[in-house]
Amino acid sequence: MSILYQTTGIVLSRRDWREADRVYSVLTKEHGKIEVVGRGARKPLAKLAPHLEFCAEVDLLVVHGRVNETVAGVERKKNFPGLYNDLLKTVVANHMLQLVDMGTREREVDQFLYEEVRNFLSFLNKAPTLTSERSAFLLSAFTLKLLGLLGYRPELNFCLHCRGVIKAGEFRWHALKGGVICGSCVEEDREQWFSSRSLSDEVLKLMRFAMTERFADLLRPHLPGEVLDEYHETVEGLLVAHFPTIPATTLRAACQF
Ligand SMILES: [Zn+2]
Repeated sequence: MSILYQTTGIVLSRRDWREADRVYSVLTKEHGKIEVVGRGARKPLAKLAPHLEFCAEVDLLVVHGRVNETVAGVERKKNFPGLYNDLLKTVVANHMLQLVDMGTREREVDQFLYEEVRNFLSFLNKAPTLTSERSAFLLSAFTLKLLGLLGYRPELNFCLHCRGVIKAGEFRWHALKGGVICGSCVEEDREQWFSSRSLSDEVLKLMRFAMTERFADLLRPHLPGEVLDEYHETVEGLLVAHFPTIPATTLRAACQF
């Protein structure tokens, strides 16, 4: 027996399937991430497909069948027109959606994640023209927030071991354990913290800022090149250490073209 249900979502990714169909991975408010088939979506006159190919929030009517779920109807609920004619913004949006797709499992409902994705798209939609540096910074800031939502919130304020407040210039960084360790804990047990490395105060500050501020405020800080190198390396390190799959390109490379 088939069941029909309605849901609101944002398409994270698409892939061709069979001869004329496509499979869409959709982050929904009510059911978490779902995979739905768009029948005939690759045919030139497909009625439903155009709404699923754009970056938008859509209302979906889904048939829950025996083998898979199929799109029976789709309507665009919220468009993000500011993205459609801006190549860099489109790249940032697609990369962000890809990260969410990689980091989530099906049917795990997370309203906060849904809101964060929607907020990021709304923010990009209205944001002024971005430079590649700013785009990469925004993408990495989203990554930090995403890691937090997925249960890998990096520790940026207190020592991972003794929970003491981290003081400027007196700490090290451990990507796999996900945060900062104070100098005295490292001294006490050099073996345990063997793979920790140094991290500058500026980069730690920038990470705290990216992690806690609203997207619109991330347009403000000056982004000096030498700080950005270390910043990106550190965020990528966290991503590699905690994500189930690793993106094919670095966040920074994705924004350079
Ligand atoms: Zn400590």
